[in-house]
Order: sequence, then structure tokens, then C-alpha cells
Amino acid sequence: MQKGKIGVSSDNLFPIIKKFLYSDHDIFLREIVSNAVDATQKLKTLAARGETAVSVENAKVRVAFDADKKTITVSDNGIGMTAEEVEKYINQIAFSGANEFLEKYKNDANAIIGHFGLGFYSSFMVSHKVEVVTKSYKEGAQAVRWECDGSPEYILEEAERAEVGTDIIMYVNEESEEFLNKARLDEILNKYCKFLPIPVVFGKKTDWKDGKEVETDEDNQINDPSPAWTKKPVDLKEEDYASFYRQLYPFGEEPLFNIHLNVDYPFNLTGILYFPKLKNTIEVQKNKIQLYCNQVFVTDSVEGIVPDFLTLLHGVIDSPDIPLNVSRSYLQSDSNVKKISSHVTKKVADRLQQLFKDSREDFEKKWDDLKIFIEYGMLTEEKFEDKAKDFFLFKNTEGKYFTSSEYETLIKDSQTDKDGNLIYLYASNEEEQYTFIQEAKNKGYDVIVMDDVLSTHLINKFEQNDQKKRFVRIDSDVVDNLIAKEDQSEKLSMEEREELSPVFQAVCPANNGVNYMIDFKAMGESGQPMVITRNEFMRRMKDMSKLQGGGGMNFYGDMPESLNLVVNTDHPLVKKVLAEKDAALSAELETTNAALATLKAEQESLEKAKEGKKDEEIPAADKEKLDDVSKKITELEADKRSKLDAFGKDSKLAKQLVDLALLANGLLKGADLDKFVRRSVELIN
Ligand code: ADP
Ligand code: MG
Repeated sequence: MQKGKIGVSSDNLFPIIKKFLYSDHDIFLREIVSNAVDATQKLKTLAARGETAVSVENAKVRVAFDADKKTITVSDNGIGMTAEEVEKYINQIAFSGANEFLEKYKNDANAIIGHFGLGFYSSFMVSHKVEVVTKSYKEGAQAVRWECDGSPEYILEEAERAEVGTDIIMYVNEESEEFLNKARLDEILNKYCKFLPIPVVFGKKTDWKDGKEVETDEDNQINDPSPAWTKKPVDLKEEDYASFYRQLYPFGEEPLFNIHLNVDYPFNLTGILYFPKLKNTIEVQKNKIQLYCNQVFVTDSVEGIVPDFLTLLHGVIDSPDIPLNVSRSYLQSDSNVKKISSHVTKKVADRLQQLFKDSREDFEKKWDDLKIFIEYGMLTEEKFEDKAKDFFLFKNTEGKYFTSSEYETLIKDSQTDKDGNLIYLYASNEEEQYTFIQEAKNKGYDVIVMDDVLSTHLINKFEQNDQKKRFVRIDSDVVDNLIAKEDQSEKLSMEEREELSPVFQAVCPANNGVNYMIDFKAMGESGQPMVITRNEFMRRMKDMSKLQGGGGMNFYGDMPESLNLVVNTDHPLVKKVLAEKDAALSAELETTNAALATLKAEQESLEKAKEGKKDEEIPAADKEKLDDVSKKITELEADKRSKLDAFGKDSKLAKQLVDLALLANGLLKGADLDKFVRRSVELIN
């Protein structure tokens, strides 16, 4: 028997391992099982080369636990170790500056374990004692037993082992007894070892007999040693990809399509990425991409490792070239990782491009489920945007799809405004904006649908990319104003407009936190008598500030909503309101208007007399006169407005017209809606 000290520069490595590696204790099993797999693969390679006669046919890695003895054992039929090799590989983890390093990465278990080959020693995170019984494949090798209780002292002695291979026996410490549990071990194995390349067995398969769960004779193999991504694409059918997806995400919804990644230069990368059906959301989707290193699971949080938009995809990436065991910040700046990342981006874009070219019809069918992904990519990755230009689609309200250039051609003639801007009319809600869409269509315009969470951002991006393109929401103005052609004339005199404004203002809802601005437009006799529009700029600002939730744009978010009530001066019913107003008020208003005209003329001449004079040069009498005139004007105007206001409040027709416009926009609710219905019945009678 031999006793000695492990070749660690620090005497207290074990306390440090235990203390600092607390975050991910369960990786001890990954490390020990993957060592067993490595050892088995090595022996298989030797066997394949004819360098050993040891049988590798049924080589398996076995995981077992004994709740009474409080041990977890991992056994393999791998290459084994001689006493010298145990010395070399297990005892001499000689590295310098261990303390310093451990201190630096104390919160990143993966970094410490991978960086210094602490793989085997991670067993001490959960054990107070670890035993290794191993027999080398080398002819005539003597089996040996190594034992260490967590202090730097170890024991190495001759032992008995019938077959070539290694047992790692971990004596589980008190704090780690949770691992002496079938379900817990199942969970860890399923997480880290599901696709290891050598069969891993954990106990026996169970069966139900007489209402009881009983063990069968069959090994319970927990892994699939040759998952789809390790195979050649030519050997796989669509069904194989589909069933692999189910293997990864048993509860996932069927994906749209996939990409099989297979690179061996300038780096090694394999994997299968799936495009999920994305709903109208960019919330993190729960089926995350899984990162593997030679079939060993490393992580499923790939943020910062692949571009953000790619994290919406599902599937597997496997690369021995990603330094997977180092810290996250290191990963993100690693040049291999960057290369891999841009390669994957390119592959994804190419795949979409190819799909579009091969079957446009099919691509269009998938578009609605795909667009969020593509839009997200366009907004965040310039390289992707460049490529996506060719297959990004606009969908119009008729359900037809167009590429950017096709759409440009379609609307060029009819939707270029007088300044040469190309106007894209869009609807954000086809149902709510139905009337507006119809009006635009009647006018010969085309309307696209931009109704997802990224639409506003995308529109801003399109407008930034091309100054001559404008996106205008269909309800942001009356149809005649959406695309400014040549100047349109007003058919109402200034005075008539001034007198109608307060009439309609009087019947606008006053207490729902919305400002109404009255505007006039000749929209033809067959147009609606009144239309409500939302200012495009204000609306976008509000939308953006909503999306950003807080942040600097809240100025707009907090502004009261402002709506334009556009009165169609051509409409017979509007003319009727005008006529009723004249009938009711013209006698009174005529006097007021005449008085106002005189006063205003007087005011003007007084103002003129003041021009160019210093204050002290103006006679006091004139000043008084001007003040007096101004006051009278204000009074008369207020009086006039209150008369118009009173008339408006009494005008059922005016009220009815405003309510109809509100109703068309879904803004008429509760008591107002009830009153509207009653008034309608009354008017029909
Ligand atoms: P790494 O796996 O990165 O080399 P580890 O600390 O996990 O580092 O293992 C150290 C070494 O111990 C391995 O390289 C291997 O030579 C040896 N070893 C560990 N486990 C086994 C095993 N089950 N069979 C044979 N050799 C093993
Ligand atoms: Mg290892």
C-alpha cells in the first residue's frame, strides 16, 4: 500500500471545491459519467485499430446508488488505469495559482472545472470520500484501488477487479443526500447525459404488475448514443427530424422546418435547428437551444453566445471548438464563438432564402408563423437584414404576399405623393380599421397589414433605410389626406367653419381623457359625414413608449390621447346641421357678427396707429380705447360661442353624427352607447 499527498499546490483545495462550486453541484455526475464515456471510447478506438483484444462489444457505463451505504457508483468497461496512470492523472493535478483562480471564478463552477481539468475532483463536491477501483486494458495489468477522504492525503493499493475498466465510488456527504434518490439522479442524467455516445445504464427498466411497479431484467438505458444531429443529412428523412424534435421537447408544438448544420472547417460544428411557430410575441420561448460539446450537454442558455434573434430557434448545437467550460464573458469574446455565431446566422438566412426560392407557396403559408423571427433578425442583425431583403414579405389586407420590390412596383403609380414619397398604407387591426381600409381600397390604394409587436420598430427601420418611403396608418387621416396629391379646396367659408366647430365640439365626449380637435375636409357626398383619425406621429410615440415600458419616452405615454374629428363639408347631413344652426341663430348671430366686424375694424386701425411708436408716444385715450375694444371683442366672442355651444348641445343631429363616428371606431361605450341607441330609435320614429 502506498500513501501520499495529492499534487495540488494548495493544501486546502477540497474546502475550496466544496465552498465555491455550490451553484451547480449536479454537474459532478456529468463529469464522472463523461470520463467513463471517454475511457470507453478510447478503448473502442484501440480495439478498432487492433491494438487490444479486450472485448468492447457491449461496453456500457453503469450508474448505480445505494441508499443504505450512501454511495453513488459509476462503472465503465473502458481503458482503465495502471497505478502509474492513477498517479499521473488523478494525483498530480498540478497547477499554479489555484487559489487565485478559484477566487476569481468562484461563482462560475463550469469555468473552474473545465479550466483545470477538475472534472474528476468535482466528485468531492458531493462526497466525503471517493474510491477508484480500476484495471487497465494493458496485458497483465494489476487492478488498483485509490481512496481519498477529501484531505490532500490519498491511499493507493493493489485490488481485485475481474474485468478491465473503472469504478468510481462516491461516498455521499450529508449535505448531498438529495442525490441518493432515483428521481433526482434520473433528472440529472436526463439533463446532461441524454445523448452521450456510449450507452449509459441506470438500473433496470420497470414494469407495472398487479398495480405495483416492478423491475424487469432489461437494462434501463437513459441515453440515445447516436442522436439525429450526429448523422449525415442524406441518411435522415423528415420524419427523423420530427421525431428528434419530440425527443428534445416532448411537449413542444411541431416546428415549421429545420436546418441541419454540418461544418468541419474552419471549426467543427454540428447540430439541428428548428424554426418554431412563433406567436405574436418575442417572449423567451420555453424550448431553448441546447449546447453540447461532443454530445455532452453544456447549457441551454445560449444568450450572448448566438445572436439574440437566433435564441428564438429550438434545437441543438454541438461543437468541440466552443470552449464550453469557461466563463460566459469569456465565451462571448472568444473568436471561435464569434465565427460560429456568424456562420449560424448565415446558414439560417440561406435556408430561408432557399425555402423561399424552392417553394414560394409553402413559404407564404409559413410566413405568419415565421415573420416575428425574420423581423427580429432584421432589426438586430445587419448581416441578416441584408439577406432578408430578398425574402421579407408584405401581406396586404387581401391576404396576398409581396416581396419588397414587388410591392414597390405595385403601389408606385397610385401611392406616390406630390413630393415623390412612396406611401405605404398599413392597418394594424383589420377589424377595427375596416371602414378606413374600405375607403382606401375604393380610392384604388392598397393596404398592408402590420399588426405584430415589432411592426412599429420595423416601420421606423424601413423609413430610416429609405428617406423616400413613408408608412402611414390607415386611420391616421381621412383617405384624401393619406397621400397628399395636389391641394384640395375647402368648400366652407372661414366663418362657417368657425361657427360649426363649437357646435360639434359641444357634442364630443368630454370626460374620457381624450382631446377632440375639429377639422373640416371636403370628402365627397358619398363619403362618411364624419371621420375620426389619430395623428400618426403621436400614436407611434405612444406605441413605442408602451413597448418600452417606462423609459425616456414616457412623455408621450402620459399625454392624453388626441383624436381628430374630421367633418365632411360635402355631406348633406353636415349641410343640414349648418342650415339648422342658421335657422336657429342667424338673427342673433347677425347682430353679433356685425358688431364684431365693426369692433375688429376699430381694433385694427388702433393697432395700426400704434405701429412704430414708443409706448410713451401713444395717447392714453387711445390705449384705453384699444383695451376697451379688445375686451368687448372677447366678450362678444364668448357670448357667441356659448350660443353655438347651447345650440350644439340641443342638436340631436350633431350628436348623432359624432356618435356614429365614435361608434365606427369602437369609442362609443356604456351610457353614451345606450343614449345613442335610444336617440336613434327616436329619430327613426
Ligand atoms: P479530463 O476528463 O478533462 O481529462 P478529469 O479530471 O475529468 O479531466 O479526468 C482526469 C483524467 O483521469 C482523465 O484524463 C483520465 O485520464 C483519467 N480518468 C478519469 N476517469 C477515468 C475513467 N473512468 N477511466 C479511465 N481514466 C479515467
Ligand atoms: Mg473529465
